[in-house]
Amino acid sequence: AETVLITQQSHEELRKVIDANKTAAPGQQKLVVVSVSPQSRASLAAQFGLNPTDTARKLTAFFKKIGVHYVFDTSFSRNFSLLESQREFVQRFRGQAGSQQALPVLASACPGWICYAEKTHGSFLIPYLSTVRSPQQVMGSLVKDFFAQQQHLTPDSIYHVTVMPCYDKKLEASRPDFFSQDYQTRDVDCVVTTGEVFKLLEEEGVSLSELEPAPLDSLCSSVSAQEPSSHRGGGSGGYLEHVFQHAARELFGIHVDEITYRPLRNKDFQEVTLEKEGQIVLHFAAAYGFRNIQNLVQKLKRGRCPYHYVEVMACPAGCLNGGGQLKAPNTPGKELLQRVETLYSMVRTEAPEDAPGIQELYRCWLQGEGSERAGRLLHTSYHAVEKASSSLGIRW
Ligand code: SF4
Repeated sequence: AETVLITQQSHEELRKVIDANKTAAPGQQKLVVVSVSPQSRASLAAQFGLNPTDTARKLTAFFKKIGVHYVFDTSFSRNFSLLESQREFVQRFRGQAGSQQALPVLASACPGWICYAEKTHGSFLIPYLSTVRSPQQVMGSLVKDFFAQQQHLTPDSIYHVTVMPCYDKKLEASRPDFFSQDYQTRDVDCVVTTGEVFKLLEEEGVSLSELEPAPLDSLCSSVSAQEPSSHRGGGSGGYLEHVFQHAARELFGIHVDEITYRPLRNKDFQEVTLEKEGQIVLHFAAAYGFRNIQNLVQKLKRGRCPYHYVEVMACPAGCLNGGGQLKAPNTPGKELLQRVETLYSMVRTEAPEDAPGIQELYRCWLQGEGSERAGRLLHTSYHAVEKASSSLGIRW
């Protein structure tokens, strides 16, 4: 099953769709949309010695040159993932979300971790998982629902590709939860890794540094994208930071400017606390890498997990260090990762609630915050998988 999946989701597949467009009868062409993750952009920037803005513009130029119609940035969809995560946490903390959903809330943007959770401890862990879709899958909703409507197209006439730091994102895109039965199409048709984009550049004989930059596209016609933006916080999206700061303000009226992490067993397992009148009122943690995840699950199973929220990521050091990122043969891994981290954090950051277009889309596309539509398009569900019937091969 995994082999079929990898063949269906590869840069060769993207090339096939682009080639088919060249000979298709008018009206039969697919609109090709590529959504690039900021982690992939930082990895390519390090490879080509470029700054993040030039990388975004040159990547846009490259994709358009080979036949892609629109190039978007998944930082835009991450605004929704972060805002929904904030809202979900406050609701669960206040006990408003129903007894099926428990604390701690465990972040769910990492498909490597979700696969492990569903397969090994499904019925135990699922009630803790955040139901918020990852930025990739919110981008799927935005492109196949909002953008399709804007373009007066049906979702199946758009071919949506994401560029990700990670092979497990291919598995996420192929989940039945993200497939439209009505239109027989996926929200994300194809995931290519950063390394596969590099291969595509090589096959086309193009060096990113030599391309003329192109203007950035914006999903929202009322917003013009001048330069890429991102969110404060770590290279896996800053979930912990955003949820912590929002919860401190919303639940305890405390404004937190800077987050101070306290390392626990190692640098990939850290915690953050908020105190009020000498009591710990919020206790968050970040657990990266399989060893730390196992440790967290054991704590939960023994009833000794003190946290209200945990940002869980399968890769040590998080998404900037994902398996689909570029390697540099002559640069030690640590040095390369540091360079990628610096480039990742070089772009302008903005609070998700202030990002241009977000409030407008909540109003006109989702029919308001907390609406049935927002629940359907921005959230998902999980399924315990019996080990014997599991068909997805994954590295756990
Ligand atoms: Fe993918 Fe690793 Fe990020 Fe998880 S932590 S989403 S496996 S790159």
